[in-house]
Amino acid sequence: MLHIEENLKEIQRELNEDITLVAVTKTYSYNEINKAIDCGVTDIGENKVQEILEKFDSVKPVRWHLIGHLQTNKVRQIVDKVDMIHSVDSKKLAVEIDKRSAQHNKIMNILIQVNQVGEDSKFGVSPEDARELIHEILKDCPNIRICGLMNIAPFEDDAEKVRGSFKEVKKLYDEFSKIEHPNLEFKYLSMGMSHDYKVAIEEGSNMVRIGSKIFGRRQY
Ligand SMILES: *Cc1c(COP(=O)(O)O)cnc(C)c1O
Repeated sequence: MLHIEENLKEIQRELNEDITLVAVTKTYSYNEINKAIDCGVTDIGENKVQEILEKFDSVKPVRWHLIGHLQTNKVRQIVDKVDMIHSVDSKKLAVEIDKRSAQHNKIMNILIQVNQVGEDSKFGVSPEDARELIHEILKDCPNIRICGLMNIAPFEDDAEKVRGSFKEVKKLYDEFSKIEHPNLEFKYLSMGMSHDYKVAIEEGSNMVRIGSKIFGRRQY
């Protein structure tokens, strides 16, 4: 596990203190995750509800982020465990998060997942729909705090090819930051993964989700 420590040091040298590193721990064991926490990781991201449930009791105290698609019927299983949900892309999902958060006396931090280029990627809302979704959530979901946007760029071998789409998302982020509402506190632009986080940061990301560059290749 020595590689985890070395990889983290290398990444942390590149990130200034305004950037939150979410270490993406899907498929890695709780021993590897705890090693990363010992090396200073404060935030971890998982993309499946089931994996959060399996690992939760074995992982040291840390902030948990749900970064993958969330089915409405699974919200209640994780609402008391996660600190932020990055993948909100429908009113229906937000309403369920709101309802379950209320049951736990919790205001859930969420990000709106935007899907900028009209790619036929399955999840995320288009820029046009994001604005309406934000207003609907602010109107009807008092137990949700909207903290920013999340974006997954299409995979390209050359990360330069997604620079333009990161720019578009940053523009939206700046636009929505101006909305004034007690439950809207734009602080996080979650974009950038192992292969494209440097470009994402150059384009204004302040939350990067990095897995394989910390833990090594995933074995599914
Ligand atoms: C897996 C995953 C990541 C991290 O991917 P790496 O290429 O391993 O850094 C980031 N975001 C999401 C939504 C993911 O599912």
